Amino acid sequence: MKLILLGPPGAGKGTQAQRISATYAIPQLSTGDMLRAAVANGTDIGRKAKPLMDAGKLVPDEIVVKVIADRIEEPDCHNGFILDGFPRTVPQAKALDKMLKGKKLDLDVVLEIRVDEKELFRRIETRIAQTDPKDRRSDDNPETLKKRIKVYQDQTKPLIPYYEKTKKLKVVDGMKGIDEVWEAIKAILAVIK
Ligand code: AMP
Repeated sequence: MKLILLGPPGAGKGTQAQRISATYAIPQLSTGDMLRAAVANGTDIGRKAKPLMDAGKLVPDEIVVKVIADRIEEPDCHNGFILDGFPRTVPQAKALDKMLKGKKLDLDVVLEIRVDEKELFRRIETRIAQTDPKDRRSDDNPETLKKRIKVYQDQTKPLIPYYEKTKKLKVVDGMKGIDEVWEAIKAILAVIK
Protein backbone atom coordinates (compact mmCIF):
# COMPACT_ATOMS: atom_id res chain seq x y z
CA MET A 1 0.00 0.00 0.00
CA LYS A 2 1.29 3.43 -0.96
CA LEU A 3 -0.15 6.41 0.81
CA ILE A 4 0.40 10.04 1.65
CA LEU A 5 -0.39 11.60 5.02
CA LEU A 6 -1.32 15.22 4.59
CA GLY A 7 -1.97 17.74 7.35
CA PRO A 8 -0.57 20.79 9.11
CA PRO A 9 2.33 20.61 11.60
CA GLY A 10 0.99 19.17 14.84
CA ALA A 11 -1.91 17.29 13.19
CA GLY A 12 -0.52 13.97 14.38
CA LYS A 13 0.81 12.68 11.05
CA GLY A 14 3.91 11.17 12.66
CA THR A 15 1.95 9.33 15.36
CA GLN A 16 -0.56 7.89 12.89
CA ALA A 17 2.21 7.04 10.41
CA GLN A 18 3.91 4.92 13.09
CA ARG A 19 0.69 2.99 13.68
CA ILE A 20 0.08 2.43 9.98
CA SER A 21 3.70 1.35 9.56
CA ALA A 22 3.46 -1.21 12.38
CA THR A 23 0.08 -2.57 11.25
CA TYR A 24 0.73 -2.82 7.51
CA ALA A 25 4.48 -3.50 7.70
CA ILE A 26 5.40 -0.63 5.40
CA PRO A 27 8.02 2.03 6.18
CA GLN A 28 7.23 5.58 7.24
CA LEU A 29 9.14 7.97 5.01
CA SER A 30 9.28 11.28 6.83
CA THR A 31 11.21 13.95 4.95
CA GLY A 32 11.39 15.95 8.21
CA ASP A 33 13.08 13.00 10.00
CA MET A 34 15.42 12.42 7.05
CA LEU A 35 16.40 16.07 6.95
CA ARG A 36 16.95 16.14 10.74
CA ALA A 37 19.22 13.10 10.34
CA ALA A 38 21.13 14.93 7.58
CA VAL A 39 21.54 17.94 9.89
CA ALA A 40 22.74 15.70 12.74
CA ASN A 41 25.24 14.00 10.40
CA GLY A 42 26.49 17.31 9.03
CA THR A 43 25.97 16.33 5.38
CA ASP A 44 25.75 18.87 2.55
CA ILE A 45 21.97 18.52 2.50
CA GLY A 46 21.90 19.00 6.28
CA ARG A 47 23.95 22.18 6.06
CA LYS A 48 21.61 23.61 3.42
CA ALA A 49 18.45 22.51 5.23
CA LYS A 50 19.20 23.59 8.81
CA PRO A 51 18.73 27.39 8.54
CA LEU A 52 15.55 26.92 6.51
CA MET A 53 14.11 24.39 8.95
CA ASP A 54 14.95 26.58 11.93
CA ALA A 55 13.17 29.48 10.23
CA GLY A 56 10.07 27.34 9.55
CA LYS A 57 10.64 27.59 5.80
CA LEU A 58 10.57 24.81 3.24
CA VAL A 59 13.73 23.18 1.96
CA PRO A 60 13.97 23.46 -1.88
CA ASP A 61 11.83 20.99 -3.83
CA GLU A 62 14.79 19.47 -5.70
CA ILE A 63 16.45 18.44 -2.42
CA VAL A 64 13.45 16.67 -0.91
CA VAL A 65 12.42 15.11 -4.23
CA LYS A 66 15.89 13.57 -4.56
CA VAL A 67 15.83 12.36 -0.94
CA ILE A 68 12.48 10.60 -1.53
CA ALA A 69 13.40 9.24 -4.97
CA ASP A 70 16.48 7.55 -3.47
CA ARG A 71 14.58 6.27 -0.43
CA ILE A 72 11.78 4.69 -2.50
CA GLU A 73 14.41 2.60 -4.28
CA GLU A 74 15.30 0.81 -1.02
CA PRO A 75 14.09 -2.81 -0.79
CA ASP A 76 11.91 -2.16 2.27
CA CYS A 77 9.63 0.03 0.09
CA HIS A 78 8.79 -2.90 -2.13
CA ASN A 79 5.39 -3.51 -0.52
CA GLY A 80 4.58 0.16 -0.19
CA PHE A 81 5.31 3.14 2.00
CA ILE A 82 3.81 6.01 3.94
CA LEU A 83 4.84 9.49 2.87
CA ASP A 84 4.79 11.71 5.95
CA GLY A 85 5.49 15.39 5.27
CA PHE A 86 6.01 14.88 1.54
CA PRO A 87 4.80 16.22 -0.85
CA ARG A 88 4.40 19.71 0.61
CA THR A 89 4.05 21.73 -2.60
CA VAL A 90 2.30 21.17 -5.93
CA PRO A 91 5.66 20.90 -7.78
CA GLN A 92 6.67 18.15 -5.29
CA ALA A 93 3.37 16.34 -5.95
CA LYS A 94 3.97 16.55 -9.69
CA ALA A 95 7.52 15.27 -9.26
CA LEU A 96 6.14 12.39 -7.19
CA ASP A 97 3.57 11.53 -9.88
CA LYS A 98 6.34 11.43 -12.46
CA MET A 99 8.60 9.35 -10.21
CA LEU A 100 5.87 6.78 -9.52
CA LYS A 101 4.78 6.63 -13.16
CA GLY A 102 8.38 5.91 -14.14
CA LYS A 103 8.35 2.93 -11.77
CA LYS A 104 4.85 1.86 -12.88
CA LEU A 105 3.55 2.48 -9.39
CA ASP A 106 0.42 4.29 -8.24
CA LEU A 107 -0.74 5.88 -5.00
CA ASP A 108 -3.59 4.11 -3.21
CA VAL A 109 -4.81 6.93 -1.01
CA VAL A 110 -4.05 10.41 0.28
CA LEU A 111 -5.19 10.81 3.89
CA GLU A 112 -5.73 14.35 5.06
CA ILE A 113 -5.77 14.80 8.83
CA ARG A 114 -7.81 17.96 9.30
CA VAL A 115 -7.24 20.05 12.45
CA ASP A 116 -8.07 23.69 13.15
CA GLU A 117 -5.35 26.23 13.83
CA LYS A 118 -6.11 26.98 17.48
CA GLU A 119 -5.80 23.30 18.33
CA LEU A 120 -2.37 23.15 16.62
CA PHE A 121 -1.00 25.85 18.93
CA ARG A 122 -2.44 24.11 21.97
CA ARG A 123 -0.81 20.83 20.92
CA ILE A 124 2.58 22.31 20.15
CA GLU A 125 2.64 24.07 23.51
CA THR A 126 1.90 20.76 25.23
CA ARG A 127 4.63 19.03 23.18
CA ILE A 128 7.16 21.71 24.13
CA ALA A 129 6.21 21.54 27.80
CA GLN A 130 6.49 17.75 27.89
CA THR A 131 9.80 17.40 26.06
CA ASP A 132 13.17 17.60 27.74
CA PRO A 133 14.91 20.75 26.38
CA LYS A 134 17.82 18.69 25.04
CA ASP A 135 15.43 16.48 23.01
CA ARG A 136 13.35 19.37 21.71
CA ARG A 137 13.19 19.97 17.97
CA SER A 138 14.82 23.28 17.16
CA ASP A 139 11.70 24.27 15.19
CA ASP A 140 9.26 23.44 18.02
CA ASN A 141 8.51 26.91 19.30
CA PRO A 142 5.42 29.10 18.90
CA GLU A 143 7.19 31.60 16.62
CA THR A 144 8.44 29.02 14.13
CA LEU A 145 5.16 27.12 14.36
CA LYS A 146 3.28 30.22 13.26
CA LYS A 147 5.50 30.39 10.17
CA ARG A 148 5.16 26.66 9.50
CA ILE A 149 1.36 26.93 9.63
CA LYS A 150 1.43 29.89 7.24
CA VAL A 151 3.67 27.88 4.86
CA TYR A 152 1.17 25.01 5.13
CA GLN A 153 -1.76 27.30 4.28
CA ASP A 154 0.03 28.93 1.35
CA GLN A 155 2.01 26.07 -0.18
CA THR A 156 0.69 22.71 1.04
CA LYS A 157 -3.09 23.26 1.18
CA PRO A 158 -3.27 23.51 -2.66
CA LEU A 159 -2.51 19.77 -2.59
CA ILE A 160 -6.02 19.15 -1.29
CA PRO A 161 -7.82 20.17 -4.53
CA TYR A 162 -4.92 18.57 -6.45
CA TYR A 163 -5.61 15.16 -4.89
CA GLU A 164 -9.40 15.67 -4.81
CA LYS A 165 -9.24 15.70 -8.59
CA THR A 166 -7.52 12.32 -8.63
CA LYS A 167 -10.29 10.91 -6.33
CA LYS A 168 -7.59 9.65 -3.96
CA LEU A 169 -8.26 12.09 -1.13
CA LYS A 170 -9.87 10.90 2.12
CA VAL A 171 -10.39 13.29 5.02
CA VAL A 172 -10.06 12.26 8.67
CA ASP A 173 -11.22 14.47 11.55
CA GLY A 174 -7.96 15.16 13.38
CA MET A 175 -9.67 17.08 16.20
CA LYS A 176 -10.52 13.73 17.78
CA GLY A 177 -8.16 11.81 20.08
CA ILE A 178 -5.27 9.71 18.76
CA ASP A 179 -7.19 6.41 19.12
CA GLU A 180 -10.31 7.70 17.41
CA VAL A 181 -8.28 9.11 14.52
CA TRP A 182 -6.55 5.75 14.24
CA GLU A 183 -9.91 3.91 14.10
CA ALA A 184 -11.06 6.22 11.30
CA ILE A 185 -7.82 5.62 9.36
CA LYS A 186 -8.09 1.84 9.78
CA ALA A 187 -11.66 1.92 8.46
CA ILE A 188 -10.50 3.78 5.34
CA LEU A 189 -7.50 1.53 4.75
CA ALA A 190 -9.54 -1.64 5.27
CA VAL A 191 -11.67 -0.77 2.24
CA ILE A 192 -8.63 0.03 0.11
CA LYS A 193 -6.61 -3.06 0.94
P1 AMP B 1 8.32 18.05 9.62
O1 AMP B 1 9.07 17.16 10.54
O2 AMP B 1 7.58 17.29 8.55
O3 AMP B 1 7.43 19.03 10.34
O4 AMP B 1 9.40 18.92 8.82
C1 AMP B 1 10.27 19.80 9.50
C2 AMP B 1 10.89 20.78 8.52
O5 AMP B 1 11.63 20.08 7.53
C3 AMP B 1 9.90 21.63 7.72
O6 AMP B 1 9.46 22.78 8.42
C4 AMP B 1 10.73 21.99 6.49
O7 AMP B 1 11.69 22.99 6.79
C5 AMP B 1 11.50 20.70 6.25
N1 AMP B 1 10.74 19.77 5.37
C6 AMP B 1 10.25 18.55 5.68
N2 AMP B 1 9.63 17.98 4.65
C7 AMP B 1 9.73 18.87 3.63
C8 AMP B 1 9.26 18.88 2.28
N3 AMP B 1 8.57 17.85 1.77
N4 AMP B 1 9.56 19.98 1.52
C9 AMP B 1 10.27 21.00 2.00
N5 AMP B 1 10.72 21.08 3.26
C10 AMP B 1 10.45 20.02 4.08
